[in-house]
Amino acid sequence: MALELRPNCEFCDKDLPPEATDACICTYECTFCADCVETKLQNVCPNCGGGFSPRPIRPKIEWREGLSVAQKPPSAKRVHLSYSIAEIEAHTLRIKDIPPAER
Ligand SMILES: [Zn+2]
Ligand SMILES: [Zn+2]
Repeated sequence: MALELRPNCEFCDKDLPPEATDACICTYECTFCADCVETKLQNVCPNCGGGFSPRPIRPKIEWREGLSVAQKPPSAKRVHLSYSIAEIEAHTLRIKDIPPAER
């Protein structure tokens, strides 16, 4: 099992290629740009309510056989939120002040 490396921010649809340094993921791999995580979501995943970490960058050089972005390419399937802005705001308000370890 490897990360899917989803291609875009689910909120603003910004491209997040495998080498992006501003991609953030939750434990379910819901994927957002760092700007949306900070300013729109306040570190609350709109899908699961968990917090985010920076997404690691998969090496483009095949340092170990079969393991590189060329051998294990990113997902091409763009993902979009299924909640309205109002629903996300209500969800964020309910959860944002609870530290991720206590959610
Ligand atoms: Zn975004
Ligand atoms: Zn999530």
